[in-house]
Amino acid sequence: MNIPSLASISLTELQDWMKAQGLPAFRAKQVLDWRNKGLLDLDAMKNIPKQVKEVLAEHIQVQPLTLVSKQKSEDGTRKYLFALNRENQSLKHIESVLIPEKERGTVCISSQAGCVLDCPFCHTGTQKFEGNLSAAEIVAQVLAVKADLLDDPMLPELHNQVTHIVYMGMGEPLANEMEVFDSLNLLMAEDYLKLSRRRITLSTSGLVTQIERLGQDSPVNLAISLHSAINEKRNILVPINQKHDLSKLRKSLNTYPLAKARHITLEYVMLAGENDGQEDLDALVQFVNPERERVNLIRFNTYPGSAYQGSSTNVTNEFAKSLISKGIRATVRRSRGDDIMAACGQLKTAKGHS
Ligand code: SAH
Ligand code: SF4
Repeated sequence: MNIPSLASISLTELQDWMKAQGLPAFRAKQVLDWRNKGLLDLDAMKNIPKQVKEVLAEHIQVQPLTLVSKQKSEDGTRKYLFALNRENQSLKHIESVLIPEKERGTVCISSQAGCVLDCPFCHTGTQKFEGNLSAAEIVAQVLAVKADLLDDPMLPELHNQVTHIVYMGMGEPLANEMEVFDSLNLLMAEDYLKLSRRRITLSTSGLVTQIERLGQDSPVNLAISLHSAINEKRNILVPINQKHDLSKLRKSLNTYPLAKARHITLEYVMLAGENDGQEDLDALVQFVNPERERVNLIRFNTYPGSAYQGSSTNVTNEFAKSLISKGIRATVRRSRGDDIMAACGQLKTAKGHS
């Protein structure tokens, strides 16, 4: 299986590889210039001779993903469905989302096909787990969106740029630690996507030892799916809490290295009658360290067959106000792409229905 992938190869690796194939090493940089624009497509590489392309096509995986379909939301959000190009395996599918805003273009990427952690309000959690993505498959999602923007210039304010990455698509990124860490390094590499760690956010349900290693290896912005600050309730809403409870989570949050003027985000999906009452608020106020953490209240994004109901706008706004009155930074996350089921927690591929 160890075929190098164009999406994850470094310049020196490709130069060495070219030399070993008897090809001129300077072609490596030319090929990677195309790749870095998002073009994992030999046909598009105009300055590369046919002979080099043939050798590449034979020995290197050029495109780890095939774009199957693309949907556009009324608010400009785009959802992409990809098939993984793996040999000798039935096609697995994953989804990624582009959220265009005035001054930023955020890509929400998947790290696994499905998720084993089974948070009961999450659509991905109801999908059969189909495996971990490789670093190349993770980064290729970003490249594919970049390529899509090249082909189809959109909002001028965005300058057709991908500026931010969030690991908030399908899967639990820290349950696929090695490949996710490799993908972070590729996103940040000076000779590749050059994204600063301040522009990358990894969301996790709270795998504490992996959070510590993330802090040591690639301390990007951290978001935690908290959803309740009461152990008995969090045991149900985020079942990994049965293994890593709130006191363990607290310890790992206390030591996570923060970039200057940055906070850890505590994500809190507002579920009517479940975690939006006074005792929930009191426990949350107790839990949060306002110096280092802020709360992001997420509107529940519904999907067919979901057993939960989102809290009303009124309850959500009051919850935010109460947090703010206690000196806690709190925001209500605007839902994006809900009409095409592209919002947080709604990703589940058709292939994943079982
Ligand atoms: N597995 C990781 C990252 C993916 S989910 C994690 O759990 O953090 C990204 C965020 O969306 C998480 O905070 C998750 O709890 C939340 N989420 C899941 N289902 C949701 C839904 N139906 N509506 C709103 N948010 C949801
Ligand atoms: Fe997995 Fe995150 Fe969904 Fe929980 S919320 S099932 S950890 S993807």
